[in-house]
Amino acid sequence: MERNKPYLSRKNGDLWLTEDEYDNLKVSYRIKDVIFDQQSSFQDVMILESYHFGRMLVLDGIVQTTSVDGHIYNEMISHVPMSIHPDPKKVLIIGGGDCGVAKELCKYDGVEHIDMVEIDELVVKTCIEHLPDVSGRLADPRVHFVFDDGVIFAAGKKNEYDLIIVDSSDPIGPAKVLFEKDFYQSLHEALKEDGIMVCQSQSPIFHADVMKQSYTRISELFEEAKMYTAVVPTYPGGFWSFTIGSKQHIQPNPSKVSDKETKYVNEQIVNSCFSLPQFITEIL
Ligand code: SAM
Repeated sequence: MERNKPYLSRKNGDLWLTEDEYDNLKVSYRIKDVIFDQQSSFQDVMILESYHFGRMLVLDGIVQTTSVDGHIYNEMISHVPMSIHPDPKKVLIIGGGDCGVAKELCKYDGVEHIDMVEIDELVVKTCIEHLPDVSGRLADPRVHFVFDDGVIFAAGKKNEYDLIIVDSSDPIGPAKVLFEKDFYQSLHEALKEDGIMVCQSQSPIFHADVMKQSYTRISELFEEAKMYTAVVPTYPGGFWSFTIGSKQHIQPNPSKVSDKETKYVNEQIVNSCFSLPQFITEIL
């Protein structure tokens, strides 16, 4: 199987996954075991058991989330916007196939309905079965799965959601469209008059162009925009950015997260994550 995949190789009998995203940087993980491996209609879906990061979801050779650091990303993209909107009841997740974002949102009793629109059903099934540290084996009746392209789904919605979370993979393949201005425009229309959206806007070090483009597009469409960061070790460079677009609310209320069972997010993190390093401020 490894022979058909350029990102899997054997060295001295050990199996290695090498992420090959950049010309001058390659990140390799030593792998204990291949837990799941199947090609879907959209991408190559693998669950690998790694030495340092435990189980990882790997799509087309790129690590998406892991048992060891998946909670950092999933808590940051969920609890930070939840701390800003005063009373989010209806939420749309676009992407998010590992189910980690939906798991975090289900910690809020006030959330009544979550539409999770993921293009690839195989990712969801696989993570529920083989990646319980991230998915929590999600089975909450408030979560409604739709297996479709997020762009098509969002385009038909008007004034419907309090919060939209775009938990996309990198802007290549099926996720490329999730970084386009027309897509952000349809999210603006799908949100209620005080709705807010958040997306992952890539690495400030390695994808400064994408980060700036996301921030600029969102700032042009939304009444308020704000960026925040977190450290996610398995994303290139470790340092990751998120961008919020909001029609009204922009001030977080950190006390909203204080009673939630989390491993990374707390009141101090919600307060401090919007403090941007000087070089990011200059890029923006
Ligand atoms: N946290 C991860 C990261 O930053 O790399 C992303 C997690 S999640 C696994 C990303 C999901 O987006 C994938 O499962 C992928 O199938 C889904 N996806 C990609 N393009 C999509 C689209 N156009 N509509 C809906 N889901 C999409």
